[in-house]
Amino acid sequence: MNIRSYRYVKTKSFIIMGIFAVFLSHCATVPGTGRKQFKLIPNSQMSSMGESSYKEVMAKSKLSADQTKVAMIRRVGENIAKAAEVFLTAQGRESELKYYKWEYNLIDDDKTINAWAMPGGKIAFYTGILKLADTEDQVAVIMGHEVAHVLANHGNERMSQGLLVQFGGLALSKIIQNKPEATQQVFMTAFGLGSTVGLLLPFSRKHEYEADQIGLILMHRSGYKTQAAVDFWVKMTKLSKNSPPEFLSTHPPSEKRVEEIKKHIAELK
Ligand SMILES: [Zn+2]
Repeated sequence: MNIRSYRYVKTKSFIIMGIFAVFLSHCATVPGTGRKQFKLIPNSQMSSMGESSYKEVMAKSKLSADQTKVAMIRRVGENIAKAAEVFLTAQGRESELKYYKWEYNLIDDDKTINAWAMPGGKIAFYTGILKLADTEDQVAVIMGHEVAHVLANHGNERMSQGLLVQFGGLALSKIIQNKPEATQQVFMTAFGLGSTVGLLLPFSRKHEYEADQIGLILMHRSGYKTQAAVDFWVKMTKLSKNSPPEFLSTHPPSEKRVEEIKKHIAELK
């Protein structure tokens, strides 16, 4: 090997080692499933970006005046969040609780069949989705799933991948520190806030199934009937054959999904 190619190999291995170090130092574990994930952005930053985006969406939205429905959404949310706190604490992750300032709002919009969660625990339901989730247990299916996306830091994982694609493996922590506007831009893209407000890009199938799994644990622990998840997703699978609403385009129902849910329910018992 001559000097030049030696230098080339040396530089290349330094770059690879650098990328590897970035991965290692930002490797986290998903609560409940134990999956390893690449998470680049500090939780505190995710929460504050989630909070400000949520405020923006809420300011533009008409909140429901139906006090019975609003109270139901908040009751389910509080029950699931309480279970989430116990769930994290049991895994020695109580230090993460400070990042969550749970909030649940019901937006008065019958045409939007959707629900979503922002990092930090900011959750929105649209009145439209209550036509599909017509019992409190079924609302708990969706709430559990959305809270699970938050606890599993799926937004952070997706953003970290986005940043990696945009800036490569180098000096990412510097970009996050010194270029908050670039980080904010990736956040906006990851959460689909650029064009249609509050319409999240679909999570990957891996994230969807993981959110189902963790969501079922939360539902079960808050005393809701987990069978409602099977009923809900069977109903969604049938519905998706015609003209699927937003929620189903980001949450594709399938027989496989129902089978996975059944499997996780059996594990809980
Ligand atoms: Zn989801």
